[in-house]
Formats: sequence, C-alpha cells, structure tokens
Amino acid sequence: MTTGSRAASDPESRDLGTFDLTVVGGGAAGLWAALCAAEAGGSVCLVSRKPLAESASFHAQGGLAAALDPEDSPQQHFQDTMAAGRNLCRASAVEALTVEGPGIVDDLIRRGMNFDRESEGSLSLALEGGHTHRRIIHAGGSQTGREITSALAQMVAEMDNIEVLEETSAVALVSDRERCFGVITEYGTITAAATLMASGGAAALWRRTSNPWGAIGAGPVLASQGGAELADLEFCQFHPTCLSAPGTPFDGALITEAIRGEGAPLLDVNGERFTDELAPRDDVTAAILTRFQMQDGQEVRLDMTAIDPVRFSSVFEMLGKAGFDATREPVPVSPGAHYMMGGIAVDLDGKTSVQGLYAAGECACTGLHGANRLASNSLTECFVFGRRAAMAGLEETPGVMPAPDDWRFDPPLVETRQSVWEFAGPLRNMEGLSQLASDRYPLARAIGSTALARKESRGGHRRTDFPATDPDLDFTHLIYLPGGEIELRRWD
Ligand SMILES: Cc1cc2nc3c(=O)[nH]c(=O)nc-3n(C[C@H](O)[C@H](O)[C@H](O)COP(=O)(O)OP(=O)(O)OC[C@H]3O[C@@H](n4cnc5c(N)ncnc54)[C@H](O)[C@@H]3O)c2cc1C
Repeated sequence: MTTGSRAASDPESRDLGTFDLTVVGGGAAGLWAALCAAEAGGSVCLVSRKPLAESASFHAQGGLAAALDPEDSPQQHFQDTMAAGRNLCRASAVEALTVEGPGIVDDLIRRGMNFDRESEGSLSLALEGGHTHRRIIHAGGSQTGREITSALAQMVAEMDNIEVLEETSAVALVSDRERCFGVITEYGTITAAATLMASGGAAALWRRTSNPWGAIGAGPVLASQGGAELADLEFCQFHPTCLSAPGTPFDGALITEAIRGEGAPLLDVNGERFTDELAPRDDVTAAILTRFQMQDGQEVRLDMTAIDPVRFSSVFEMLGKAGFDATREPVPVSPGAHYMMGGIAVDLDGKTSVQGLYAAGECACTGLHGANRLASNSLTECFVFGRRAAMAGLEETPGVMPAPDDWRFDPPLVETRQSVWEFAGPLRNMEGLSQLASDRYPLARAIGSTALARKESRGGHRRTDFPATDPDLDFTHLIYLPGGEIELRRWD
C-alpha cells in the first residue's frame, strides 16, 4: 500500500512540542482554522511545506461565493450548488455552506479584509458559471487569493499561541489506524490532541493543470495510510478555460471564469460561438471537447478583447508573458485539471473515520461539491468548514503516543502525472483506468480504482464506455477504504 518505506531517522524523532491542534497546510483553510482555534484559546502548531504565500489559495483569481445581494438568498445559492453537483451533493453540507457563507464575509470584513466595492460603496458582486445571481466577491480585481492569504497570514503571525513551521513537510501521521496522535515532519514529531489536514488538493497529479506543483494530494495519502477513509476520488473538475500553450511553462494557466462572467465568448475555428459560456464547468468542458472532435483537434479561443484589462490585470499580465496580447486577439484555451472534489471523507465538523484526525478545505470531502463544484464555492468552503473543524478538534483530549511505524510519504514521479492525465483525464475508459489502478503512487491507484468502479458518466467523471448517467447512483458516494476496497454509501 505504500510507495516509500524507511526507518525513522534521528531528526524525525526530535520532539517539536505538544499542542491542542496541529494544522497541516498554510492555505486559506489551514490559516483560518489555526486562527479560529487560537482565538478560542487553543495552542496551535501550523506546519506548511511551502512558505505561506505559495498555496493554491494564494492563486485564487475569481473570488468567494456567498448570497449577499438583497435579491439573492442562501436558498438560491443552495439550489445552484445542488444543480451544478449533478445529483451528488450532500445537502446538509450545501446548507451549511450557503447559510454560513454570508456571516463569514461579515467576519472577514470586520477583521479588515478589503473586498472590491462599487463607486457608491456596496460590495462589487461578480457572476460565474452556474450561478443564477451575482454573488462572487473579490479583492484586488483578480488577486483575491493573494489578498486573503496575505491578510490571514498576518493575523496568524500576530497570535502568540500559534507556532508556525514554514518549509516543513508532514511525512506521516502518528496513528494506530483508530486514533491519530500527531504528525511526523522531516524535522521532528509534533504531538497533538487533534490533527487537522488542510493540505490542499490533488489537481497537479494531472500533467495538464492550473494548480501549483505541490497540489499532489499528500493529505489523502497520509490520511489513508493512517487508517482514514477517502471519498469521491473519481471526481476532478477540469476547468474549461486554461491557456493552451503546449511546451511552455504557461500551458494550463488559468483564465478565470469571472472573465466569461463579464461577457468573453468562446469561439470555434470559424470564429463562431458554440456554447453557453456560463453553463456549469462540466458542461462547458464537454462542449469544448466535442468541438475539438468536430474540428479535427483545432483550437478553440476565448475572446477577451472587450474585457477591461485593469479589472483582470494579473490574467492579462500572465497572457502577455506567455506571448499573447489578449486586448487585441482571442487566446487559445483547452480544459485542464483544476479542482479535486474528492478527498479525505469527513462529516460536517471535519471529523474523519480516525479519532483525532480532521480535514478541511480542498483535501477534505464533505460531499459539498458532488460531481462538479460550483465556481468559487471552494474558498467559502475553506472558511465555513475550516472553522467547524477547528472548533471540533479543540474538544479532543490527548492520547498516549504509540511508537510510529516506518512508512514515509514519497511524492509522485513525472510518469505518474503523465498516466493520471492520460488515463483519468477529461475522458476515461476501463482500459486506461485499469492501468492507473496499479500505479506506484497510492492516490493515483485510488483514483484509478474508484473511477473504474463508477460505471457511468456524471459531472467531472466522463467514461467513454459508460456515457450515460445511472440514476441508481444518484447521491451515492464511492468510499475508498484504507485497505483499498470500495464501498458505496449515501450521505444525508
Ligand atoms: C489558479 C487557481 C485559481 C482558483 N480560483 C479560485 C477562486 O477564484 N475561487 C475559489 O473559491 N476557488 C478557487 N480556486 C480553488 C481554491 O483556490 C482552492 O480550492 C483553495 O484555495 C484550497 O485551499 P486549501 O487551504 O484547502 O489548500 P491550499 O491553498 O492548496 O493550501 C495547501 C497548503 O498545504 C501545504 N501542504 C501540502 N502538503 C503538505 C505537507 N505534506 N506538509 C505540510 N504542508 C503541506 C501547502 O504548502 C499549502 O500551504 C482556484 C485554484 C487555483 C489553482
């Protein structure tokens, strides 16, 4: 079941302290959870593999979804999320997100976050695919993630009861597979009554991705090895408008949906529109793939010439560096892996199947996103469920630490990333998935096995050998058990 195995070396056995809560990950979910726990009086250790400014959260361009307009409502946001999720969302998780979302925004504003405003002072609300109302708030135009994570990192730094260990990786959990007692890093072991994984997504396991390279699903790998269940791994969201610049470092770079929300059309090889650009992402991705087939693989383009480059300065700058003047001509786009709907299976308080182990943010799977995430729900998720998990974690009492085993995390090889793209990309079938199910990287195996077991097409999971949706599988999640077996489960 493991890819790496070596004896615990001396630096790892160094004692890095005992805390109420250890948080693994310094993106929006981890920073927020650490802050909430510390403000509630807990002692917190925050471990982050990268400097705090290098998470996926830092790169978020669009914004954060919440029903804030007087003509909008949490009920409408609920309905849009359920519709995008293709009869697979866990309704209780969607309700928590949509009801608690507006309060989170108020809280962030009270703490000094500057979201963009209209000239008369009201919050500026953007539209993205699948939303029936303008409800996406943003900061610094398309620099929302940078603004939010910088503000949170500053707040965390000001808390005396949070110890931050940057450039430190969690390489294993200390777990007897029933209870988690803390985390092993390459520099020592942290003991904690509760451990909260907030280690981000896994979309960079796919070779063509909008994600930073660290999004390789370390959290689910560590949690599964520690005895926790994973869920919905067959569902990765392929973002329809990633830059197509093969062979360059810019291939896969994200062009935010908010730009389509402001009216940028998608054009085929004849310069004609061919789809509703603001349909949910799985529909737009499918329309692009179909158009590729119809025009012998030739590119489709996004026409941003009528968009204000100041509002989306970071995107226009990125395109300029990649050699495209998007103010003058449409740019080539194609789908890339963007967001992992599946992850460590948790309840609404972030509890995993292992006592003392919690998860929040993109590495977790509450069932919120179903088979297709509604745009900009994920930052809101980091806040709503990050806080819930932090509060629940503080209820744990410490256990007696067992001797750790010698399993340690090994990152995936380039070959794995190529295989995941080739065999579990936007279109999959039994033959390719069977090959992936024996990959050497544990999460690639788990993705291959669950995608193989879901014999239908739904949301981000499109099987060429099972193109129809099977209504018998509505609201049925595939749970990947720690031993590699798969169980079907329905969540309330
Ligand atoms: C380009 C881009 C644009 C996006 N735009 C939006 C948007 O507009 N709106 C929206 O809602 N969502 C957006 N998303 C998705 C959203 O940004 C993420 O889902 C969300 O930020 C995830 O936050 P997180 O805290 O769970 O994880 P991340 O922000 O990915 O943070 C993970 C953290 O875990 C650390 N880590 C990982 N492994 C380890 C380990 N083994 N040990 C220690 N630390 C570890 C990483 O270093 C990092 O600090 C976007 C994503 C991308 C890539």
